[in-house]
Amino acid sequence: MAVKHNKIVILSGAGVSADSGIKTFRAEDGLWENHQVEDVASPEGFERDPELVLRFYNERRQQISKAQPNAAHKAIAELEKQYEVVVITQNIDDLHERGGSSQVLHVHGEITKARSLYNNLEVFDIGYQDINLGDTCELGGQLRPHIVWFGEAVEHIDSALEHISEAGKVLVVGTSLNVFPVASLVRYAHPEAEKVINALDLQHPPVDYEYLQGKAADVVPSLVLRWLGGR
Ligand code: NAD
Repeated sequence: MAVKHNKIVILSGAGVSADSGIKTFRAEDGLWENHQVEDVASPEGFERDPELVLRFYNERRQQISKAQPNAAHKAIAELEKQYEVVVITQNIDDLHERGGSSQVLHVHGEITKARSLYNNLEVFDIGYQDINLGDTCELGGQLRPHIVWFGEAVEHIDSALEHISEAGKVLVVGTSLNVFPVASLVRYAHPEAEKVINALDLQHPPVDYEYLQGKAADVVPSLVLRWLGGR
């Protein structure tokens, strides 16, 4: 596949929203906002205690509604002035969209959407409203967050692969590379692409990527200036 020099793919994870006050998923202790991830991010956890899981995501939704896009989200949107930009994110928040990005693929779902237990493909926009036990689709199926839990199929994987494999520039930002699919998507970048990765504390950044260590809100705006200036 020929490389498209005017196309940029951003692969983002929880770290890009950390500077907006949203905590990352802490792989080292397996906790997400003080909960065991398997309790709040698996179909089994939802079966065991649906009320706890709904409350967990209701809290995340409220927190996200009050957060603001940071300098990294905004700088990524600026790239659209000169490039075709596709953001592929593991984040369930809407901060890329609110920061101005127009093409965002959420591979792990979206906090502002719900789906019915009767039909995974029936997805509803709910904005920042809570989901409670007893909230159902027209057929009576309980609603759950439109979030990809462990063991569930990720969203948009075919188009994500296509976008990354033809992009002339790839920026990976704020992911520990422990969580799929971003952890594997990084390896599908075009050999000729300029590849950059930003995180706080990666032990083994991929060798074919330029590693920019630091906070996304500091690092990404200067990289964007470089890409807008020196095309
Ligand atoms: P992760 O939490 O596993 O890793 C976060 C990475 O971000 C780390 O490498 C860390 O070095 C880096 N980081 C932390 N603060 C940073 C900052 N200020 N600037 C730059 N980098 C920073 O992230 P992941 O790989 O995306 O996996 C998290 C999983 O949990 C995903 O499935 C995601 O859906 C979910 N999650 C989402 C959100 C959100 O939507 N904002 C928040 C927490 C967890």
